[in-house]
Amino acid sequence: MAKPYPYFVSLNEAISLCQKTSIDIESETIPISQSINRIVSSDIKAKVNDPGFDNSAMDGFAVVHSDTTSPPSQLSIIGSSMAGSTESHTLSSGQAIRIMTGAPIPQGADSIIPIEDCTVTGDKVTINKPSKPHFIRKLGENFAQNQTIFSSGETMSPEKIALCAAAGISTITVFKKLKIAVISTGDELKSLDDDLEHGQIYESNSYGLAALVEIYGHEVTRFSNVIDDIDILRDTLNEASKTHDCIITSGGVSMGDKDFVRILMEQEGDIKFWRVKMRPGSPPIFGMWENTPIFGLPGNPVSSHVVFRAIVGKWLTSLTKSKDVNNKFTHAILDEDIKTQEGFTTFRRVELFESNGITHARLKGHQGSGNIAGIAMSDGLTVIEPAAKGRKGERCKIILL
Ligand code: AMP
Ligand code: MG
Repeated sequence: MAKPYPYFVSLNEAISLCQKTSIDIESETIPISQSINRIVSSDIKAKVNDPGFDNSAMDGFAVVHSDTTSPPSQLSIIGSSMAGSTESHTLSSGQAIRIMTGAPIPQGADSIIPIEDCTVTGDKVTINKPSKPHFIRKLGENFAQNQTIFSSGETMSPEKIALCAAAGISTITVFKKLKIAVISTGDELKSLDDDLEHGQIYESNSYGLAALVEIYGHEVTRFSNVIDDIDILRDTLNEASKTHDCIITSGGVSMGDKDFVRILMEQEGDIKFWRVKMRPGSPPIFGMWENTPIFGLPGNPVSSHVVFRAIVGKWLTSLTKSKDVNNKFTHAILDEDIKTQEGFTTFRRVELFESNGITHARLKGHQGSGNIAGIAMSDGLTVIEPAAKGRKGERCKIILL
């Protein structure tokens, strides 16, 4: 019987169906020191020029270039300009001023000769090579005062935090973190402080999923494991939806009799799609529970991780119109045939290696979707598009892990 919602959709359809569901996210102003992974929500303008003054890129001497074009040439040392010095210096033809990296350029100088190209004797310096005008870092060459250094949607990185500080910016306006609930389901799951009995396993998905939520700049609550009981699951989803902006579950979305996330969503939720043509990770469900977006991820550890990267992360970045900086990718030549299924997007675990200056990818470890060790030790995931065959020698996109 046809399902009353999109069933077994392509990965692209899944991504675009998710994007029809949006959440308004407020902004807040925070210190740059606490901004790693946060997403900028309004343009940031530099308060100062960088550099704020012409300065030296080398330790050496500031000189007049035309004095040095027929080496060796001898100049008189008339002073020193140190980094941080607020004193101003002037020189003219025939003179040199000792200068350190970052120190202001004396008036009259137009180039720098590095110390290694000089011989100093008393108050004279012999310049053994022509001096270099490009060793002067010019006022404003990196960015100018009032220039927009980045725009809404940028994810803060260590480099961008340093750029803010260089631009004199101590606080920035970012999107508030979404509150995301991560809920694991399964009778077999035990917490790390429990002893395992035969048939039980440590619950691990919530840890990986929580870390993924955090690298996407949001706040996570890891709920206690929920046993396979529809009433307890309903209560937990109700509680999570009251206090969170989004719910991510793992387990219980396949065809089994105890797959209660799927059963509950079918009976009482609003399903936007169920099942996606991807390997691994075909069981996910997406919809609304009490007006809260809910992603039901598969229980298999590799699948839950891959589905987060392929679908949930894409949705999160679409909410803030950001680039998905956590799914960095490269391209590599496949070193062997990769098993694919027609119409499916295939994410296999690979290691990368270089041969003749070209990056190649080969399968790494056992490819079972239950094998978290395989993905944890691999360098990346293939992204073999539904129409591609994944044959040895083909160029393939690889998501870097
Ligand atoms: P399910 O999707 O509930 O059928 O689970 C599929 C497989 O994933 C089973 O082998 C489960 O034991 C395993 N699994 C489910 N949830 C978790 C979890 N939170 N951590 C580790 N493994 C899990
Ligand atoms: Mg289960």
